[in-house]
This record gives sequence, structure tokens and C-alpha cells, in this order.
Amino acid sequence: MSNRIEQIDQLARGRMLSEPEMEQLLADATAEEDAYLFAQARRVREAVYGKAVYMRGLIEFTNYCANDCYYCGIRRSAATAQRYRLREDDIMACCENGYKLGFRTFVLQGGEDAWYTDARVSALVEKIKHTYPDCALTLSIGERTKEAYQAFFDAGADRYLLRHETADEQHYQVLHPLSQTLERRKQCLWELKEIGYQVGCGFMVGSPGQEMRHLVKDLQFICELQPHMVGIGPFVPHHDTPFAKEAQGGLELTLRLLAVIRLLQPHVLLPATTALGTIDPNGREKGILAGANVVMPNLSPQDVRKKYLLYDNKICTGDEAAECVNCLKNRIDSIGYELVCDRGDYK
Ligand code: SAH
Repeated sequence: MSNRIEQIDQLARGRMLSEPEMEQLLADATAEEDAYLFAQARRVREAVYGKAVYMRGLIEFTNYCANDCYYCGIRRSAATAQRYRLREDDIMACCENGYKLGFRTFVLQGGEDAWYTDARVSALVEKIKHTYPDCALTLSIGERTKEAYQAFFDAGADRYLLRHETADEQHYQVLHPLSQTLERRKQCLWELKEIGYQVGCGFMVGSPGQEMRHLVKDLQFICELQPHMVGIGPFVPHHDTPFAKEAQGGLELTLRLLAVIRLLQPHVLLPATTALGTIDPNGREKGILAGANVVMPNLSPQDVRKKYLLYDNKICTGDEAAECVNCLKNRIDSIGYELVCDRGDYK
């Protein structure tokens, strides 16, 4: 047995590799080694979650943002972004549509929009949870105070997504202005966990300045935080950002990382992201075959979809939610998995 296969087996027993071993596996696994890695990831995923793929209805409810992340198309300085903000009635209409389509998790995602005060977010959470008590509600609205996180939780929010973006301090400052720090980002994640949320961290693959050693740090941070969800997808440039001319992240590397994360955290809820579907026409299917078990189709109203552009060429911005669900159902069927109508909690 080759050394590499033994390393993959070690990962499959939940044990982290040494830093040089992990860097090399990520950098230059052969096609055979990848096939073995992905098969192990599927085996581990199926032992916990079977063939189920959970769906989350993503509601992109505001693209106003106070932050200025260099990679993001809705950053404060993106002058060409057409700003919009959905109000409670619009959001409730998205949920109603989503519920009929079988969604039992709603994800409210947005920029860091001060109009949505802690009180307004809490009221919105309460309204959604009161109307759909059988659904899980996930927030993805960036950094707030611990008091705010607690208030949203008390109002009924179940989960919180906050990608750490990179676990290396210097690399964090390549991606963000100095007013945004990795220390604060991580602190938020620990606070969310302490409050009792199901928590998701994550990062972009192939973001500018990223080196293999940064990815190893990302994996180490995941092992330390023990999140319930991990969101990763390739970096994709946006034309109206400082990173407009940078290269996009790679498919193979993203798939390897999905598989490695599945092996290190067998129970994790791991989406095959829209960004992955954007860099490859079958990216999401490939992600599921590398160990992912979640998809997050868009429930936002059609007229705002083209305005929530974090990166260029984003897929599905012209489709109705119902079309997206149908399309995904067929894609998932075709690879022998099953899109299910379920809250899809962490097991
Ligand atoms: N404001 C919220 C939501 C951010 S958008 C927050 O701060 O958490 C969700 C994720 O999209 C980000 O965390 C980032 O990792 C990803 N993203 C942003 N710009 C991107 C780009 N150009 N390519 C790929 N992913 C991107």
C-alpha cells in the first residue's frame, strides 16, 4: 500500500496528518488517490447521514454592507452594486414559497446592514419561527455583539453561519482592511457556540495570497472549534473589487478539502456550494461525491437575485426557486443520492 493511501486511511480514522503530509496531499494527490479519498469520504458520510442530501432555502435579504472585504462584490466600496433590502413581508413571502417547495430550513443571509438593528432581526426571527415552528432558522449576518447573538437565539434562531475566511492572521489582512480582524471573527464563533447555536465556520479555496500552509491552519481551526457546519467554496473574482484580476480557486483542491473535512469531522453538515457549481457545471454533484451532504438553493425573489452578486457568473440568478429545486433534485437523483424534505439537524 502506498504511503499516501495509508495517510488517507489515517484521516478516515479521524486523525490529522502532519503539516507537510497534509500540504502534499492537498497539493498533488494523483487521480487514483483522489478517487480513494472521495470514496472514503462518501463511506464516512453515508455511515452518519445515509444518502440524504439536505436543502436549505437561502434568502439573501439585504446587500447593504458596512464591511469592505476585498473579495466581495457587495463590499461597501463596490460602487456599481445596486443596493436592496427586503422587508418583513417580502421575506415572509419567500418562506411561504419555500415551505410549499419542501424547505424546512431557512437561511437569512445578508451584508452587515445597520438598518437591520438587533431588535429588527429579533422580531423577524420570532415571526418566522412562530409561523413555521417545524422549520430551522439559520442566520448569516456577520459580526454582532454577544448580547445580540443571545437575543436572536432567544427569539428562536437555531443556527449561525460565519465563515472565518482564513485561520492565518497575516492572510486575513490580505483579504480584509485592518478594521476587520481574525481575532474578532473567531471570538464571534466561540460566543455563538457558547450560546448554543449549531455553528458554521468556513473559508474560500484559492483566495488571493492563500498558501497550502494556510489551508492546513484552516483544518486545524476546524478541529479546534468542532463546528456543526463548514462552508467552503472556491474564490471567484468579482469585477468591481480589488481582486477583479485574480485567479479563481481550483475545483480539485476544493473537492479534496471537502473530503478531508468530512473525514476529520464525520458528522459535519457540509454544503456543495453555489460557488462550486459556478466554476464547474457539475460542481455540486462532484462536491456531494466528495463527501458534501447539503445544498443551498436560492429562495430570494427573482428581481433581487442579480443584485446579490458576491462574485461574477453566479449560477441560478435567473431561475424561480421551484426550478432550482427541480433541477437540483434531478442532479442529486442522477448520482444516486436523495434530496430530502427535513430540517436536517446535526446528528
Ligand atoms: N455578511 C455575512 C455573509 C457573507 S456572504 C458574513 O459576514 O458572514 C457569505 C460568504 O460568501 C462569505 O463568508 C465568503 O466566504 C463568500 N464570498 C464572498 N465573496 C466571495 C467571492 N468573491 N468568491 C467566493 N466566495 C465569496
